Amino acid sequence: MTTEGDLRRLRVGSGFDLHPLSSDSRRRFLLAGVEVAGSNGPVGHSDADVVCHAIADAILGAAGLGGIGDHFPATDPTLAGADSVALLAKCVRVAEGAGFEIINVDSTVILQAPRLAPFRTAMESLMSEVVGAPVCVKAKSPEGVGPLGEAQAVVCTATALLLAPRP
Ligand SMILES: [Zn+2]
Repeated sequence: MTTEGDLRRLRVGSGFDLHPLSSDSRRRFLLAGVEVAGSNGPVGHSDADVVCHAIADAILGAAGLGGIGDHFPATDPTLAGADSVALLAKCVRVAEGAGFEIINVDSTVILQAPRLAPFRTAMESLMSEVVGAPVCVKAKSPEGVGPLGEAQAVVCTATALLLAPRP
């Protein structure tokens, strides 16, 4: 049973991430920790997993703890090629360490190709395990419009709902 006091402790957070797609067909493409076949992978300082980064930003934002770049700066040489699932797990621990409980996360990947339907179950199950709450990963096609439609980049948006600690 939810009381009015619990409702006042709800916190929503939003996350957004974009990485350019590489012209190198050997670049791995990781989305939500799952390797996707059918497109050149994204370029970034870490492994450039936009789903992990957007979800981490949504969770940290809901907790009022800034964004992933505040905790793991892109200038940090030790983070070159970093595993973004591990980074997300660390961000979850930061929020939980501050007393927040994650209720659920929703996310949308915007990508021209490939279709993500075959990968969704694996993505959602890994993300839900890392976050410790239900995570939805949806996909939208940019319908060939603009740089996203020309497969120059991949984008992910995410929304997280958290419960703040009792005052
Ligand atoms: Zn990123």
